[in-house]
Amino acid sequence: MSSDSASAFRPIVEPQFRLGDTLGFELQVVREDLLPFPLPGNKVRKLRRELQSASPGDVLISNGGIDSNHCRTLAIFGAQLGYRVHLVLHDDAQGTTASLALLDMLGASYEIVTGAHIAAALDRAEEGFQLQGLVARRISGGCHTPAGALAYREAGLDVIERYQPDVIVLASGTGATQGGLAAAAAGTSTRVVGVSVARARDRGREAVAEAAAWAGAGRVAVDFTEDFRDGGYGVYGEDTLAAVRIGWRYGLPVDPTYTGKAFRALLDDSFRERHLRGKRVIFWHTGGLFNAISGISRRTATPKAV
Ligand SMILES: *Cc1c(COP(=O)(O)O)cnc(C)c1O
Repeated sequence: MSSDSASAFRPIVEPQFRLGDTLGFELQVVREDLLPFPLPGNKVRKLRRELQSASPGDVLISNGGIDSNHCRTLAIFGAQLGYRVHLVLHDDAQGTTASLALLDMLGASYEIVTGAHIAAALDRAEEGFQLQGLVARRISGGCHTPAGALAYREAGLDVIERYQPDVIVLASGTGATQGGLAAAAAGTSTRVVGVSVARARDRGREAVAEAAAWAGAGRVAVDFTEDFRDGGYGVYGEDTLAAVRIGWRYGLPVDPTYTGKAFRALLDDSFRERHLRGKRVIFWHTGGLFNAISGISRRTATPKAV
């Protein structure tokens, strides 16, 4: 990759004055949702590094939910770089047909299995490609990999050096994004607070610590709250949807699966008192526009009388 393309992927940091005034602290937003890539988000930064790091082989294989941003992003990279992509998707109630239609358009192949059959399906797919003489490369679900964590360490170093925030708040799932940022913040006064979109506290913290170690930070304090999971991965109720509506009212596109849960923390009195009051705050926006559009249209498109 040329350095021009590297600088195009430098984190975009945008002050949000109106929203910051309302919330009562100085707010900047890192716009990973505006990276120069179709349907951008944190999976772009992780996978970009992952695919640079070793020979990708002929076929890229991975897994995730039907609406997985990781799977969608991998399919787009495959189309751009000329690799075949095969996805093992778990059959979940939330998955939308729009996600599958897009994978079709991108030329990715996929199979849909129940959760218990994912590992076997990945093995079978890999063997099948080997029999055809193709080199298949498996990428961990969510791109929870050392390369993914390192990509976020690098992005975190850049943002911390430029803005010296007191706190970075982000949506945390598999933990590689938070782990990379925590590695970048190690030894500085910046704290990185992950808002879980899925996992309970202990499991989530462990995964973040693992990713921070991949990114070169042996022992980091992991701030990870499970208070805004609102039912777990891909599930959400009125509290999350209310936060999503407020975000959009300020022109900040948040989604109910990921960024809306983290944004809800910024609105929460006790979270604000504990982590944000009087601080220089960065909200690290991780993407999710596709989830926002499919989620909002599923849940809230009721015609209103005027
Ligand atoms: C995957 C994802 C996350 C979680 O990132 P992890 O590195 O898995 O913790 C957050 N937000 C969005 C929009 C995502 O797609």
